[in-house]
Amino acid sequence: MKGLVFSIKRYSIHDGPGIRVTVFMKGCPLSCWWCHNPEGISPEPEEVNEIKRIGKKEFSVKKMAGEYYEPEDIVALIERDRVFIERSGGGITFSGGEPFMQPEFLLETLKVCRKAGFHTAIDTSGHFPSELLPEVLPYTCLFLFDLKHLDPEKHQKFTGVTNTLILKNLQLMLKSDVEIMLRIPVIPGINDDEQHLFELRKYISEIKTGRIRMINLLPYHKIGASKYRRLNREDKMKDYNTPSSERMKELKEFFSATGIKVKIGG
Ligand code: SF4
Repeated sequence: MKGLVFSIKRYSIHDGPGIRVTVFMKGCPLSCWWCHNPEGISPEPEEVNEIKRIGKKEFSVKKMAGEYYEPEDIVALIERDRVFIERSGGGITFSGGEPFMQPEFLLETLKVCRKAGFHTAIDTSGHFPSELLPEVLPYTCLFLFDLKHLDPEKHQKFTGVTNTLILKNLQLMLKSDVEIMLRIPVIPGINDDEQHLFELRKYISEIKTGRIRMINLLPYHKIGASKYRRLNREDKMKDYNTPSSERMKELKEFFSATGIKVKIGG
């Protein structure tokens, strides 16, 4: 069985605890305006223009985003970094895209990774068929779970889907004994207004359990802008700004009132 992957990042320190290998899987049911991995949205291999520089000259070359891997290929890759991974308390993180878009490959790779003794994490939008959850839970140590907007209409507008299924899946996850890190993208003008921030803090305080080990506040950044050009896609975020570091510190304090550890960044 093969899975379609558009990038594999070694020595990642922002996708869960310790040093990790992050596997970016193709396909996502959302289309967030601020997505910084737009090449991960389509479930098919896709041609992207890569900008190369020689001296002062810039030229573009065509490259395919998306390569097929067997679960065993992935384990063989992380084996190379086992020493660093184990010493740092790290592991493997499945990200994307949305890893649940390739459920068989995800499940099989989780199984072989756990069998090999690696800590496993899934970075998810939360938008996936709920019946998949009990299948992956026995092989998943941690979920990195995105909370983008609590208002279903705004969620629909900015991501292409409502948050109903996402919040349902979060509730289901909270009933299990898996650990969760909540990830909140901070996007000025989209989800950082006072009313939404208070609602979000209240929501998190109400669902709080000891298994939510951290809230990660992820400041919106413009890294994706060049990718939109290379994919010939519209960048809907060109008029939106990144949050200042002072603002991020304020928000860190604001969410610390939940009693959950808060970190700026992943
Ligand atoms: S859920 Fe993540 S990968 Fe999918 S479109 Fe949104 S930001 Fe991009």
